[in-house]
Amino acid sequence: MTAPNLILLGPPGAGKGTHAEYLEKKMGLAHISTGDILRQAVAEVTELGKKAQQYMDAGQLVPDELVIELAKERLAKPDCARGWLLDGFPRTVAQAQALTKFMAEVKIPAPLVINMVISDEEVIGRLSGRRMCRGCPTIFNVERDDIDVGDSCPVCGGEIYIRTDDQPAAVKERLQVYKRQTEPVIEYYGQRGQLVTVDVEGEQADVARCLLVAATGGEMSDE
Ligand code: AMP
Repeated sequence: MTAPNLILLGPPGAGKGTHAEYLEKKMGLAHISTGDILRQAVAEVTELGKKAQQYMDAGQLVPDELVIELAKERLAKPDCARGWLLDGFPRTVAQAQALTKFMAEVKIPAPLVINMVISDEEVIGRLSGRRMCRGCPTIFNVERDDIDVGDSCPVCGGEIYIRTDDQPAAVKERLQVYKRQTEPVIEYYGQRGQLVTVDVEGEQADVARCLLVAATGGEMSDE
């Protein structure tokens, strides 16, 4: 199998982060989440973090020029030579075009784009129950995992918290932003013949299996 480059597209709450962790382990790819990089920049109060925070808290997109630059810097790191998985980038057609240009310049084969499809109702339910850990990348849900703010992470003992942008007003804004700015990216890749679609509304383990088959063109399955 040639070094795969993958993009996970889908609305907030589709499970991009959770499934990216799984595909990263299974396929040995470098997992790049622009949201994680930006959250870290905010936590460390870097120049990038200071510029990004207001947009993130409001559920809006950070300006293209900032995100494109950080994605290009990250993709140039040595671990990306083994293949990478982009989670949360590109989110606008301008970002997708910049990525296509960058990949042509550095002669990397075009990525496979997996479009994760899920209803708005399911997204709202998932995001309102989502809980994060400050110490590790595990993502929890109050319903599924019986865990909430005040508990310790069962994986690393870290503090459990709710993302500011998972508050109801920000979730509504993020869904609108997704429809307005990110859905056109699906069409962009569809027209280029790089797109596969996976329904991600079912059980997590079943969805993971479908994603692995889609990501590897059937070369790997979790049976
Ligand atoms: P995520 O963790 O992917 O849901 O991203 C959290 C937030 O980070 C988003 O709501 C945006 O404010 C910002 N962000 C992450 N990736 C991008 C991107 N590719 N373009 C613009 N903003 C982004």
